[in-house]
Amino acid sequence: MPKQTLLGLTLTELQEVVKRLGMPGFSAKQIASWLYDKKVNSIDDMTNLSLKHRDLLKDVYEVGAEAPVEAMRSTDGTVKYLYRAGDKNFVEAVYIPDEDRATLCVSSQVGCKMNCKFCMTGKQGFSANLTANQIINQINSLPERDKLTNVVMMGMGEPLQNYENVVKAVEILTDGEGIAISKRRITLSTSGIVPHIRDIDRDMGVKLAVSLHASNNEQRSEIMPINKKYPLPELMQACHDYQENHGGYITFEYLMLKDFNDTPAHADELAALMKKYKINAKFNLIAFNPWPGCSYQPSSNNRIHVFSQKLQDYGFAAPIRTARGQDILAACGQLKSKKNGEQTGK
Ligand code: SAH
Ligand code: SF4
Repeated sequence: MPKQTLLGLTLTELQEVVKRLGMPGFSAKQIASWLYDKKVNSIDDMTNLSLKHRDLLKDVYEVGAEAPVEAMRSTDGTVKYLYRAGDKNFVEAVYIPDEDRATLCVSSQVGCKMNCKFCMTGKQGFSANLTANQIINQINSLPERDKLTNVVMMGMGEPLQNYENVVKAVEILTDGEGIAISKRRITLSTSGIVPHIRDIDRDMGVKLAVSLHASNNEQRSEIMPINKKYPLPELMQACHDYQENHGGYITFEYLMLKDFNDTPAHADELAALMKKYKINAKFNLIAFNPWPGCSYQPSSNNRIHVFSQKLQDYGFAAPIRTARGQDILAACGQLKSKKNGEQTGK
């Protein structure tokens, strides 16, 4: 029988494991420390557990850490890592060093069901949810793990459609006995799964980013099918409610699509929308990364700057997000789940 993995278990789950195996309660914290702090690859290395207890553990479990199988370095310092996820699948995580921080963009699913028209991941369809082990392994087995300051759930997949595993991964990420990254340094990006937006603060307490990409209901439905299920007014109300509990600001990602959503009138509409729902918003204006077969084009730099200025005139922060790692196809919407040479339909 294949062994179960220890990496990806929360402290509570580790406590259940040691109890079940008849080990002392304090072993759970010891195991957590070996997994998430010392990052051992084998149960044999957990040397403060007795030999007998290590053997008991090994009967059922393995550590389940796996280094990335491929790394691609961009000229701008971004590194894209390919991790194995199960027998046939791969996922990508993108390491983005900056002057004052180092961020890892983590995947939550292999592919995605949401089918947003502008997204290459969406185009490739859905293969699988990642387990908590496979989410945490992207972070724990990162070669630059010790330099990491921030995590964004903005890689492949819709994190709120893999809710349980994402909640577990965040628990491990933020637990002092786990990876111990502050909740304020973790951002979850969603296309707008409204019922779960209401749960984020209670279950995770991380920062919220919403892929908005349109300033009205009609246009949002045109590019994001999820908007038909949870229309813009419901999404805005959920964002308002989240903010009432959480405070701070919500980041709205806004893709700049040429002649579709990039005029000054759209900026006016966005500002009015935030005012109506009393949302303290920050906009990240994202340059669209075109891909073959996609009918949208990126807006001109001039358009993007005018749009950004207009939002700033309304009092919003509206930075223009420069694409990182474009030369290695690591930018937003360019992630894939196959090894090089095995890609199809791209
Ligand atoms: N599924 C989640 C998180 C992953 S997508 C979400 O949609 O929020 C991460 C970000 O990349 C999203 O804001 C998404 O809209 C954006 N994105 C998708 N395709 C893109 C493309 N071709 N160019 C630029 N950004 C893109
Ligand atoms: Fe899925 Fe996000 Fe891509 Fe939409 S933008 S298809 S939700 S990964």
